[in-house]
Amino acid sequence: MTANLTKQTHFDAIIIGGGACGLMCAVQAGFLGKRTLVLEKNDRVGAKILISGGGRCNYTNLHTTHKQFISQNEHFSRSALAQWTVDDTISFFETYGIEGKEKTLGQLFPATNKAKDIVEMFTSLCNDLDQQIQCNTEVVAVRQTSEGFEVDTLHYNRQETLFATKVVIASGGLPIQKLGASDFGLRVARSFGMRVTTTSPALVPLTITGKDQPWYEQLSGNSIFCRVWNDRASFEENILFTHWGLSGPAILQISSYWKPGELIYVDMLPGQDIAELITTEREQNGKKTLLNYLAGLFTKKFADALSGHLPVNKNLASLSKTDMESISNLIHEFKVKPAGSKGYDKAEVMTGGVDTDELSSKTLEAKKIPGLFFGGECVDVTGWLGGYNFQWAWASGFVIAQSI
Ligand SMILES: Cc1cc2nc3c(=O)[nH]c(=O)nc-3n(C[C@H](O)[C@H](O)[C@H](O)COP(=O)(O)OP(=O)(O)OC[C@H]3O[C@@H](n4cnc5c(N)ncnc54)[C@H](O)[C@@H]3O)c2cc1C
Repeated sequence: MTANLTKQTHFDAIIIGGGACGLMCAVQAGFLGKRTLVLEKNDRVGAKILISGGGRCNYTNLHTTHKQFISQNEHFSRSALAQWTVDDTISFFETYGIEGKEKTLGQLFPATNKAKDIVEMFTSLCNDLDQQIQCNTEVVAVRQTSEGFEVDTLHYNRQETLFATKVVIASGGLPIQKLGASDFGLRVARSFGMRVTTTSPALVPLTITGKDQPWYEQLSGNSIFCRVWNDRASFEENILFTHWGLSGPAILQISSYWKPGELIYVDMLPGQDIAELITTEREQNGKKTLLNYLAGLFTKKFADALSGHLPVNKNLASLSKTDMESISNLIHEFKVKPAGSKGYDKAEVMTGGVDTDELSSKTLEAKKIPGLFFGGECVDVTGWLGGYNFQWAWASGFVIAQSI
């Protein structure tokens, strides 16, 4: 390894991380006539964009407000989201050839269903706007000097220190190390004396172990529409049973609000009342067994699984008041005690990150370190499932580009 002297650069800013936030920042800076250098440790940019949404990239959500973001300061994302709105994302993507197609719940995907179209749009814009992308370059440290910042890089095995007056940390969060995820943004923040809030995997499947695990395993592959909640949030979407626990959109959503040791609650018939349904049914079909009734309502497999918890062999006419209460509790307030989560390898995002108190919500510049900016997932702003995280990444990239 050879050491080099600090190299002056002719860029207005160095952007660390060629992901959603870094690429948008480079392009928007280019529109303003500025020049940036994007340093990316992978051999290509946009690794997470490429695999997102099952390779289709759910790039925004029509219903975005600051309320779909988790942060110690729930108002922090307002300014960036107002400066770069969902309409801005849609028209920007359309202008550069990507028509959106709404799937469920306001989720927008490219009409072509190809996430790679988005990465290609950004790389070709960077090229047209003379923004330089340097891959295979890991940034190992950032230091402040009297005139700006020294950025220590490793390009293959070559060590080089670059100088820039402004630095943007867009190095993402902790999920999925093999895609380049690192704690770099958090380390830089700490090295500058900035606070970092506790991080944990979010939008992540939850595991069940011990005596309860076989119950979940027997239902592996089954999916039901539920309301899932705890005392902080509630979501109505599908849950998916697996041999190790629970997944599916409703579980991923609640996982961002779950803390180890806590229960989550599941209503398997949201918006309906099982006691009323049974009362109506037994007027017509009192001899029907509870098992058959539940099999019609859900699936036979699911009804069988409930047989350990309920008097399923009784016919509807003979169910007592206590039976009805047990059925109601089980169906409408099923208690789940996850053992843990599948961790950063299976999480889509992380909660926590650079403390928003350390940043200007308007510019995302560090309050104590002028010229240093943090955007995207490394900041303590975490979106719900459904395109919100990319909307935050685009918005924060745009906002930073205005100030570098
Ligand atoms: C499986 C999966 C599916 C997802 N699907 C969606 C979806 O459909 N919709 C949605 O809104 N969100 C989705 N997300 C979340 C979304 O991908 C992230 O929120 C978003 O990519 C964050 O953007 P970012 O620019 O902050 O970070 P990233 O996109 O992660 O980019 C950070 C970049 O920095 C690079 N880097 C890290 N450290 C260094 C370093 N020291 N030196 C140089 N480079 C470095 C990384 O290699 C990476 O390329 C998904 C995430 C996953 C894991």
